[in-house]
Amino acid sequence: MESTAGKNWTEEDEKLLLETIDKWVENEVKPIAREYDQEDKYPHELVESMKDLGLFGATISPEYGGMGLPASVYAKVIIKVASVWMAPSGIFNSHLIMASAIERCGTDEQKTNWLPKMASGEFRGGIALTEPNAGTDLQAILTRADRNEQGYLLNGTKMWITNSMYGNCLLVLAKTDLKAKPAHKGMSAFLCQKNEGYDVSKKLKKLGYRSIDSCELTLVDKQVSSDALLSGEEGRGLQQVLGGLELGRINVAALQIWQHVLKPPSYWWEVLPINLIRENDVTWKPEWQSILRLRQEYFAHRKQCVFLAGIVILQNTKLNAFTAMRC
Ligand SMILES: Cc1cc2nc3c(=O)[nH]c(=O)nc-3n(C[C@H](O)[C@H](O)[C@H](O)COP(=O)(O)OP(=O)(O)OC[C@H]3O[C@@H](n4cnc5c(N)ncnc54)[C@H](O)[C@@H]3O)c2cc1C
Repeated sequence: MESTAGKNWTEEDEKLLLETIDKWVENEVKPIAREYDQEDKYPHELVESMKDLGLFGATISPEYGGMGLPASVYAKVIIKVASVWMAPSGIFNSHLIMASAIERCGTDEQKTNWLPKMASGEFRGGIALTEPNAGTDLQAILTRADRNEQGYLLNGTKMWITNSMYGNCLLVLAKTDLKAKPAHKGMSAFLCQKNEGYDVSKKLKKLGYRSIDSCELTLVDKQVSSDALLSGEEGRGLQQVLGGLELGRINVAALQIWQHVLKPPSYWWEVLPINLIRENDVTWKPEWQSILRLRQEYFAHRKQCVFLAGIVILQNTKLNAFTAMRC
């Protein structure tokens, strides 16, 4: 496909992109999805084609070489990829969360230095927030960034970091003031290159969502320069990374729109614990019925898809919890 990077986005571009994504998914993603997912193999060849498609710059502004896709078109791209395999979307979505934080909060120099290379896929990144002791409650992180003459010295451990092994950069959340109250006022975000700002200690095994690299990182006396501090301002890190997670929510919502709203109803009979339905379980029945209703509503009112996706995520969470309790 002729690269759309750097163009002003039009409806014609959208049509062309979505048709191209359809062909790519059919010809390159679908044939390897099952084998790679089952064997936890990383799809290096898809990364190369994603570069050609401009997906690493999907939501980065054209002035930095990206496509500048609106959220609705971005969601459509994710839905198409997830219709075959959800793992590849993680490869560009985590990367785009980092890019979004740079574009919203970075200094002019940081934007110029990082965004064009991220849009082309030369820099491939993600976000390093979670730690062994802190996931949902990010204010409890222990990774610290101590200011010194050369910049900051990073020490800590990160867990489950997507794109860390096969990518080459990350936005790392750390504490610049351990005593700050509230804690987020002492948290800052750092633009780090692999090995310079962090080391990858191991790839973690997962039950699902395999193939993409989710790893543990160690940061032992990693020296970064003052230029690495996002926006050049300490104490803004939590807000900066949480803002970027909006893109992650669109990704998850779009994934679930396919999995739980658009897939043919026969899918339900394949994957759900059929015995529960046969039992006509009273707890189960409302969940089942409400998801089918959402699917009908989606087709009736497509424009509300993001809103519906939020509801679907909630329904799906309840459904998973219910299923887990019964297994
Ligand atoms: C495949 C995969 C990829 C990931 N990629 C990344 C990545 O790239 N970067 C990154 O930083 N992290 C990543 N993560 C980590 C992810 O962000 C965390 O798993 C998530 O934030 C939850 O944290 P936790 O696992 O520590 O669970 P916990 O925080 O321990 O939560 C466990 C459960 O308790 C619930 N819970 C927690 N606190 C409360 C509360 N106060 N009230 C009610 N319920 C609560 C949660 O909703 C959850 O259901 C990844 C995880 C996975 C599985």
